[in-house]
Amino acid sequence: MKVLKFGGTSVGSAQRMKDVADLIRKTPGIVVLSAMSGTTNSLVEISEYLYRKNPDGANEIINKLAIKYYEHAEQLFTASEYRQRAKELVTRHFDYIRTFTKDLFTLFEERVVLAQGELLSTAMMNLCLNEQGVGSVILPALDYMRTNKNAEPDPVYIREKLNKLLEEHKNAGIYITQGYICRNAYGEIDNLQRGGSDYTASLIGAAIHAEEVQIWTDIDGMHNNDPRFVANTSPVRRLHFEEAAELAYFGAKILHPTCILPAKLNNIPVRLLNTLQPEAQGTLISNATEKGRIKAVAAKDNITAIKIKSGRMLLATGFLRKVFEIFENYQTPIDMVTTSEVGLSCTIDNSRRLDEIVDELKKFGTVSVDAGMVIICVVGDMKWENVGFEASIVNALKDIPLRMISYGGSNYNVSLLVRSADKQRALESLSEYLFNNRKD
Ligand code: ADP
Ligand code: ASP
Ligand code: MG
Repeated sequence: MKVLKFGGTSVGSAQRMKDVADLIRKTPGIVVLSAMSGTTNSLVEISEYLYRKNPDGANEIINKLAIKYYEHAEQLFTASEYRQRAKELVTRHFDYIRTFTKDLFTLFEERVVLAQGELLSTAMMNLCLNEQGVGSVILPALDYMRTNKNAEPDPVYIREKLNKLLEEHKNAGIYITQGYICRNAYGEIDNLQRGGSDYTASLIGAAIHAEEVQIWTDIDGMHNNDPRFVANTSPVRRLHFEEAAELAYFGAKILHPTCILPAKLNNIPVRLLNTLQPEAQGTLISNATEKGRIKAVAAKDNITAIKIKSGRMLLATGFLRKVFEIFENYQTPIDMVTTSEVGLSCTIDNSRRLDEIVDELKKFGTVSVDAGMVIICVVGDMKWENVGFEASIVNALKDIPLRMISYGGSNYNVSLLVRSADKQRALESLSEYLFNNRKD
């Protein structure tokens, strides 16, 4: 069985939903849907108003969003019976959201509000398929998708519950389920973080040993550079799991960073496909490498670099441990690290506890901080025995100040830290030299 995940833009209008219904009919399997595009953002906004005890602000957004959904119901269905059912569905969900404007609003209520987007899109799609005479059933994600006490998915629970549900609806053919939403270890409604529908798809893939996980979105696969910043990017046909994971982690928004691991552990191919151009080849992510090829570039914003210069590092054992312990104590993950005999530079993308971290690091030496940086990550087959790839990368960036360079942590990436102001130039230049044959 295949798992097909459709993102927000793929279900973002009545026409898009009809197109997706056509695709689903051709490839039956488990269909994971995100909320319609913009919905989760609106639900976040509603929650922010409610946190600030501003029900009027929240109601304004709720009403606007509800109108969008009534219009959607009007356009999606042909028969008045189905249109009526869809409108009742919309009324039910929005009445429910409105109940949260009247009372105490906490993290718990917020998660319930955020879950409404995926609950609505899946119910709409199921109705749409049913109107077309296609038999489909909903697998409620809240009945099988679950995280444990560490907020990590619980694969044993997911596998057991999901397979039981599938067994109960053995001959359904098409199963529709919600991406992103889950229950936590205490049975409360929760989610897998923004963009987490991709994660839902690969967790399901792992749970049922799917033949393939397909991530359908609005672009024809992983491009060799970020199309939001660079013109003339082109799709990469094949990626190794590790290459895809590095790209996703370092900013290629097409894929959620957590999505690759369950697929990789279970060796399930992941295919990135375009709903707007279903015949396009897309990108196949698997265990295969293409020898010596640099595949793609991605960038991660809002990075802070921290340098600790210490005479005591010289010949000292345990120095790195003590430094890293400080970051651990403040629950701040480190992305890049480079060391020299007298010091260490590392980067973080969450600077919430920066002041406390810096205060503690000062015990070890002089500390300096560079905020407003970007990690540029170049990905491909970069075994150290291969020659020349580092030279091409550095040559492409010869006019740009490089704050850190990191290679050797994996066979698949070289990371470089530049100023945010230089990001655009760095990405463009890397495309020119690495993919468009510029030689000077
Ligand atoms: P969905 O809503 O389907 O999950 P996303 O917006 O999360 O879609 O991801 C698709 C978007 O990712 C594309 O429209 C594109 O702008 C962006 N993107 C960023 N980097 C890349 C890349 N390297 N290749 C393809 N798309 C990318
Ligand atoms: N709807 C959620 C979001 O916008 C999850 C997803 O789209 O993957 O973040
Ligand atoms: Mg996405």
